[in-house]
Amino acid sequence: MEYRKLNGQYENLLEKNAHYENLAMIDALTQIPNRRFLDDIYTKLYKEHIRDNTNLAVFMIDIDCFKAYNDFYGHVKGDEVLIQIAKTLQKTLKRPSDFIARYGGEEFVVLLKDISLDGASTMANQLILAIKLLQIPHEKSKTIPYITISIGIAFKDAAAKVTQAELLAYADKALYKAKESGKNGYVVCEKVI
Ligand code: GH3
Ligand code: MG
Ligand code: MG
Repeated sequence: MEYRKLNGQYENLLEKNAHYENLAMIDALTQIPNRRFLDDIYTKLYKEHIRDNTNLAVFMIDIDCFKAYNDFYGHVKGDEVLIQIAKTLQKTLKRPSDFIARYGGEEFVVLLKDISLDGASTMANQLILAIKLLQIPHEKSKTIPYITISIGIAFKDAAAKVTQAELLAYADKALYKAKESGKNGYVVCEKVI
């Protein structure tokens, strides 16, 4: 009896741990992995792509003109858009090894292992299209009157001497270029290939 009770308490504790662990790795608003989760998976995939002698693509994704959306439609609507975008991006990724996380405010990071540059570009187009097809009205957008996203792509093969942090920074640079060249599209960082 005593033992069973103790055992039960221990199980409770384990459950609680798993619960808190989950909370610490999942973004509270969008319910997709958060930056901490991303750090873990990124380290894992980075090592794996070298060991398996394959490619790794990193996408930095950012919602276009989102400040204007919040200003015009309100923060609550903005939060709803974030949830919808996260869900749609996650649904559009197909392979079990594809990973998406909320990186910060209105930014997401996607990791694709074992993919060609053509494959990565196709996936970027699919993500951009999937968001466009939601047709979330955005009267104040500078692109089209719907919510759109821009994507920066960094890509490396196993041999390229680019660190994990550098690869992510390249994706960010490419995103900046995508924004500069009119948003609602993707740019591949030419340095990494
Ligand atoms: P750009 O097209 O160049 O990306 O412009 P932008 O307005 O999207 O970018 P900026 O970085 O100027 O603004 C980001 C905005 O995202 C600021 C804030 O209003 C909104 N935002 C960030 N996090 C959240 C959030 O958790 N909820 C909501 N509702 N809005 C957020
Ligand atoms: Mg941003
Ligand atoms: Mg933005």
